[in-house]
Amino acid sequence: MTAIDILRKLVSFDVFGGEPNLPLANWIKSYLEQLGVEVHQGFNEEKTKAFIYARVGPAADGGMVLSGHLDVVPVEGQDWVTNPFELIETADKLYARGSCDMKGFIACCLALVPQMQAAQLKKPFYLAFSYDEEIGCRSGDAIAMAIKDHYPEDIPYALIGEPSMLRPTVGQKGICFLKTVVKGSEGHSSRILEEVSAIHESMRLINWLEQKMLDLVSKSRDDRFVPPQSSIHVGQIHAGIAPNVIADSCEFRWDVRTIPADDMQAILDEFDAFCRTREDELRSIFPAFKIETTKIHPIVPALDTPDDSPIVSLMRKIGNDAPLDAVSYAAEAGQFARNGYHAIICGPGSIAQAHRANEFIDKEQMKLGQDMLSALIEEFAR
Ligand SMILES: [Zn+2]
Repeated sequence: MTAIDILRKLVSFDVFGGEPNLPLANWIKSYLEQLGVEVHQGFNEEKTKAFIYARVGPAADGGMVLSGHLDVVPVEGQDWVTNPFELIETADKLYARGSCDMKGFIACCLALVPQMQAAQLKKPFYLAFSYDEEIGCRSGDAIAMAIKDHYPEDIPYALIGEPSMLRPTVGQKGICFLKTVVKGSEGHSSRILEEVSAIHESMRLINWLEQKMLDLVSKSRDDRFVPPQSSIHVGQIHAGIAPNVIADSCEFRWDVRTIPADDMQAILDEFDAFCRTREDELRSIFPAFKIETTKIHPIVPALDTPDDSPIVSLMRKIGNDAPLDAVSYAAEAGQFARNGYHAIICGPGSIAQAHRANEFIDKEQMKLGQDMLSALIEEFAR
């Protein structure tokens, strides 16, 4: 099958982040098994979602993981001209949800498996396709660990094929989504000094977060990123029923994006300590006062692959001499790095075309993506 034929099949499975993916995972599994590849799967607790990994080539040290995610972002509320789950081919573009982010890359990998098998590889490739990436890279650590656990050989490299226009990307911000719930007391608005308004207190917490961000911005920057600093942002807030009723509950949702120099956990710990002091203070007015913050997903670690990393040298060796890049979006590269791989993001298509209506990938990028893999195959057959 050509990469475009495979992509047509992959985009027809409308698997969103958080949703079951077995029909898609099983289609890939049987595609690979028909080629004689031994496929392994790891599951979520309910066994409704699977990640897939497989080795193509010999059980030898020095191989590379080719990583992609099987889920896509929703299409709800977006102004699609065509059916997002049908691949629409024009002279130079391929339209569909996931065409760019990132089933295009997965299709390139799958299409080149026969070439890998024919190449007398000295070092193997490991295909690694995850689930729930779009809702916080939830299976990134599990798949990175499963591969190291399963195969005894040394696996130094991981290439994450997120759309980067095939620019080797060595930096990624750390990301965490959080939810804070403030429980105050209710009452008539005239009693505001005798009660604890969850809205007023949330405002103080949000101010603290904004001030924390400004402190970080003044202390550390990393010019590889746009913007070059960490950010903290409150994107949702829900509270209150009327102007004259003190709100007893307020919930806000926020995100933190950190450059590698800033420590995500330290920021969250500091916020937590501030919340505990507010609780101590306000419990004298309302004993049941409470602030609870939960992570919506585990922290996605930043990626900070050094410019002289062996995987950068490898990319240079196969002729990719594009300038090194860094991105502000979440990807599984940080998790592969945390699990001991030299990790890089480098895939076809542009992030500018991802997550939006009428998502597409240029056919030229699909070709260049396959060219990159062919060059890696040649290098690993040497
Ligand atoms: Zn992606």
